[in-house]
Amino acid sequence: MKSLTLPEIGTPGTQKIPYLKTDKKNANKYVYYFGGGKADGNESMKNLLGGKGANLAEMAGHPDLRLPVPPGFTITTEVCTYYYANEKKYPAILKEQVQNALTVVEKQISKKFNDEANPLLLSVRSGARRSMPGMMETVLDIGLNEKTIKGIIKHSGDERFAYDAYRRLIMMYADVVMEKAEGKEPRGGKGIRKVLDEKLEKLKQKRGYKFDTDLTVSELKALVKDFKATVLKVLGKPFPDDPYEQLWGSIGAVFSSWRGKRAVEYRLIEKIPDEWGTAVTVQAMVFGNMGETSATGVAFTRNPGTGENKFYGEYLLNAQGEDVVAGIRTPAPINDYSRNEQSKHLPTLESTMPGLYNQLFEIQKKLENHYKDMQDIEFTIEKGKLYMLQCRVGKRNGIAAVRMASDMYKEKLIDAKKAIMRIAPNQLVELLLPMLDPEIQKVTKPIAKGLPAGPGGAKGRVVFSSDDAVRWASKGEKVILVREETSPEDVDGMHKSQAILTTKGGMTSHAALVARGWGKCCIVGCADIEIHSNTKSFKANDGTFIKEGDWLSLDGTKGLVYKGSMGLVDIDLDKNESYKIIMDLVDKTKLLGVRTNAETPGDAAQGLKFGAEGIGLFRTEHMFYGQGSDQPLFLLRKMIVSKTEAERKLVLNELFRYVKKDVKDTLNIMKGHPVTIRLLDPPLHEFVPHNAAKLRQLSQELGISMNLLKRRVLALHENNPMLGHRGVRLGISYPEVTEMQVRAIFEAAAELLKSGQKAFPEIMVPVTCTESELIHQKKIVDRVYNEVCKELNIQEIPYLYGTMIEIPRAALRAEKMATVADFFSFGTNDLTQMSFGFSRDDIGGFLPIYLDQKLLDDDPFQTIDQEGVGELIKFGTERGRKTKPHLKVGICGEHGGDAESVKFCHRVGMSYVSCSPFRVPIARLAAAQAALEYPIINSSFNNN
Ligand code: ADP
Ligand code: MG
Ligand code: MG
Repeated sequence: MKSLTLPEIGTPGTQKIPYLKTDKKNANKYVYYFGGGKADGNESMKNLLGGKGANLAEMAGHPDLRLPVPPGFTITTEVCTYYYANEKKYPAILKEQVQNALTVVEKQISKKFNDEANPLLLSVRSGARRSMPGMMETVLDIGLNEKTIKGIIKHSGDERFAYDAYRRLIMMYADVVMEKAEGKEPRGGKGIRKVLDEKLEKLKQKRGYKFDTDLTVSELKALVKDFKATVLKVLGKPFPDDPYEQLWGSIGAVFSSWRGKRAVEYRLIEKIPDEWGTAVTVQAMVFGNMGETSATGVAFTRNPGTGENKFYGEYLLNAQGEDVVAGIRTPAPINDYSRNEQSKHLPTLESTMPGLYNQLFEIQKKLENHYKDMQDIEFTIEKGKLYMLQCRVGKRNGIAAVRMASDMYKEKLIDAKKAIMRIAPNQLVELLLPMLDPEIQKVTKPIAKGLPAGPGGAKGRVVFSSDDAVRWASKGEKVILVREETSPEDVDGMHKSQAILTTKGGMTSHAALVARGWGKCCIVGCADIEIHSNTKSFKANDGTFIKEGDWLSLDGTKGLVYKGSMGLVDIDLDKNESYKIIMDLVDKTKLLGVRTNAETPGDAAQGLKFGAEGIGLFRTEHMFYGQGSDQPLFLLRKMIVSKTEAERKLVLNELFRYVKKDVKDTLNIMKGHPVTIRLLDPPLHEFVPHNAAKLRQLSQELGISMNLLKRRVLALHENNPMLGHRGVRLGISYPEVTEMQVRAIFEAAAELLKSGQKAFPEIMVPVTCTESELIHQKKIVDRVYNEVCKELNIQEIPYLYGTMIEIPRAALRAEKMATVADFFSFGTNDLTQMSFGFSRDDIGGFLPIYLDQKLLDDDPFQTIDQEGVGELIKFGTERGRKTKPHLKVGICGEHGGDAESVKFCHRVGMSYVSCSPFRVPIARLAAAQAALEYPIINSSFNNN
């Protein structure tokens, strides 16, 4: 293990992607041409040309493809960078390069820009390295004015088409260039596009037309005139007549849209760096709006909703590109397979234009074979001729992602490595949870939106308290618990609910953490609703009124709340062959072990089903919450307020059988897979009784006065319970507490072994900071071990003794800690808390500000702080293994199920990660990806 060759550890999320440096030859080359079977660029140049530009170049110029792409050129992202660094000016030679490229385009297509006889029209399109759908701008039909339109009419012989294009240009240009790029605040919140659009709608209404295409030539002409006058009136500037002014205005507007509000917000969410910039692609227009032999459409090489290997798409006759997405008319299906409820009666492209459909079909096949992934394509048919306008790797949901990866692997289109890398670990969540029926969801409007804290779908009847949840559930009702926020006392009701909805709290709030752990649907921070607890009802901002007992449906993946009871679709993993194929590849690839955190035998079984190889964290504390907790909780309280060893021992004797049963059941379910049992670390302050009746009962059972009891309770008060009398400190002041647990563990294991079962407990001591604590507790363990072996007449009980590393000092002293411990498990929740000095219960006050002002990139409680806490983990692991080369090292805590954190654990050379049952498949996939991304040579992972 000493000779681990570990790659440097950086922060993958924030790591700078090496900027594509232009080589000498191409220094100062800002414009890349494509078209006519040639291209300056190719698919690998996304950083420079943006995704759209790079793929257009690939489609146009790659010898295997050479598809019919309208000619054009791409202005690089470097110009965008320059533009922002130089007060929105361009490099001096850009004009000349653009002019030269434009001349080539003109030759290629035999039309001329700004020419009255046979004018070329252009589109100006945006494109970043990574697709940011709908976030930036596009302007079509550039180059039209009162003179060139004559040429267009003459050449096309279609006056209607020419004016249709003209009114589109004015609308887009006024919106994108004259209003948005200029940063003009729309009057009364109504943008120019809306103003013009309303004029169009009014006209259609007046004439009784249903579609844009019904407008006549003279109506369109009048509309264009009206549009121009309106632009002048509303924006105070005329729509520019000069085609070159239109062109440069549009180019500038696309660059400006990179810093538009929408784009900036999108980048923040998607973590796309601001420095990347966008490229601008200028391309010859082709027209799908030239009558009934023209059309435009979008398609996917496979079904992005299911992953099925079927060509899938929509098109519109006599329309321009943006009409399909804008939903102006219902698009028709390209083939029978693509029909849906709304489009089932419409004619398919396959039936109306069979020849062109076949051509498109062949092209999409070629594209998928070329890119070896599902492609999302845009096409336009101009008077019976097909053009390709865009291709990119298509977005897909989790279910489709798994299906496609597995199918493509079977088809031998991709290898195992690619199949594993194709799926984002978090996408697997969608396969594990039931979800709202997507078809119904599509046509239903949510009443409120909150933070998506626990994914999946759920429906139930609304209740407003944990007690009600328990009561209703016991009558067999499905309920959704709606609260302002939740606390540990609500856990039982939360457990009994189908889902949890809170109006306050963030992604790390109590409700969010608990729900995520259980894989329960949960929405938090839903400020769109206001709870009136006195009338047991709530009101949503949209006016919807919901009272106790009403049905509600939640989409926890997106944070959407729906009124009523919506259908749920359940997903049976065992029936998902694609999932099985992928996870089989995953398990063959990963080096890191994956365990589950389990509080109950039920959790343990669930974890096993999801592929857990053991339990990394089993806490007995759960027995003090929820169903059946009355007696153990009472005993715990009794123990807490006991004063003498004798008092305490009496209680412990009673508590013993609960602990033993719990441990035994769990060891039994795990059938010899290791089970790490953490010794008690109860937050004492949470368990101190406050209720008078409970206090009285306690005083009676202990035989002490209420006064004395109250004084004892008062004495338990701590100023900083998180740093107080907890963890191993309890076991040191009250060795009998440790003894009771250890005895329970050994007896449980011994009994299983004697009855022919397997059992492998790992005893974990929490909150340690020095090896002397471990030595102190080990003496108890050794003594009890011998006693149990003797009493039960058994030779040997296999077990390990180790510690949780959750105090920075313990990590720094790892070399010494490992002299006593057989294993370490990094408790990253506390380790983060104590490294940052951020109280986990109090971060709500300041962490949002830190994230907002980018003082921190991520919430360190969600993603391991690799630079700080990660250094402690790395150091602790290395030092520990200096003492014991085969020291087992794992992690428990929320981080174990976070994909980035799992990859980090792999790179540190850990033996395993442990996470809640529903995160197990995600952690497995992340571990396999880590093994592929960061091969570790010569390691001796011991991961069971
Ligand atoms: P987005 O990135 O939002 O998809 P696009 O640049 O792809 O924006 O353009 C928006 C629409 O305009 C698309 O439907 C596209 O097909 C269409 N379009 C773009 N360029 C042209 C062109 N040269 N000829 C015809 N239609 C075009
Ligand atoms: Mg597009
Ligand atoms: Mg802890």
